[in-house]
Amino acid sequence: MVALVSALLLVVTQQPAPLTIGSGVARPGQAASGFIEVPAGVDAATRIPISIIRGAQAGPTVALIAGTHGSEVAPIVALQRVRATLDPAVLRGTVLIVHVANMPSFLGRTIYYSPIDGKNLNRVYPGKADGTVSERIAYAITNQIIERADYLVDIHSGDGNESLRPYTYWSPLRMDARADSIAREMALAWGNDHIVIDTVRPRSPQASVYTQNTAHIRGKPALTTEAGYLGIAAEDMVQRNVDGVFRLLRYFRMLPGTAELVRQPLFFERTEVLRSPATGVWHPKVERGQSVQKGALIGVLTDFFGTTVAEIRAPFGGIVLYVVGTPAMSQGEPMGMIGEPRLER
Ligand SMILES: [Zn+2]
Repeated sequence: MVALVSALLLVVTQQPAPLTIGSGVARPGQAASGFIEVPAGVDAATRIPISIIRGAQAGPTVALIAGTHGSEVAPIVALQRVRATLDPAVLRGTVLIVHVANMPSFLGRTIYYSPIDGKNLNRVYPGKADGTVSERIAYAITNQIIERADYLVDIHSGDGNESLRPYTYWSPLRMDARADSIAREMALAWGNDHIVIDTVRPRSPQASVYTQNTAHIRGKPALTTEAGYLGIAAEDMVQRNVDGVFRLLRYFRMLPGTAELVRQPLFFERTEVLRSPATGVWHPKVERGQSVQKGALIGVLTDFFGTTVAEIRAPFGGIVLYVVGTPAMSQGEPMGMIGEPRLER
């Protein structure tokens, strides 16, 4: 009897603990999906659909987040495909998928801002338990996803109004050399060959502002990636995001196969978001990815009757990383982003 009890105890104690996030529960070798509930507070409740893909073997935890901006849809569709095809039986470690971080913005089809509180989810991290809905979403993702992750990719695309050429943000903060250099390799592994270097992100964990930055400040190497445009899930952009995930998992040796790094990246240290001097109707004159000389016409802003208000010109020569491709334009909002490429640094 004693032997039987000990044997049973052995079986019980050897059973690995399930990983529970919201209503998702996964043991090693299992995939599960569920929701993180964001309770009502000063405004409406929402929920965050997540998946846990837990490899049979132990290893690192990678968090993949889509839908921080709800009209950036190619990454949302891409992570559905990752959920369907990533096999826990061959995975080492754990992949946490946030399918749609910003459900109010996704279902409300808004750009930049939540239809509920008017805030940009990617400007309110690490969030607040008792804040408005965007702040409560950020709080839930910080505590339930980022805290559990070793690495993070916040997967964006051009927003519903942005015609964008794929690129990745690498943000060396010079707080943690290891995190900075791993993040650089993650960028090369992800596969976008245009890499924007952003060194001016905040360095306080209490005011990390951005999703990526919230992880990176905590010593968890992180990227923000951009692929997709204009509110549609174009097949080549969906597949590029799927490929990025699998390339990254091979780089971390979480999947078998050879890691591939971009061989000839173009780094951008100098970039500028062009902001509208007035409210009116925007007429873009360039395409995403186009090379422009200093002074080239990027677009024309008119009043509502068609009279030109401003001709917007390139402040320096470079590449159009994105240009707003739809007519509505409010004062102070982006019209496009130009980057000046620099070869290997
Ligand atoms: Zn975005």
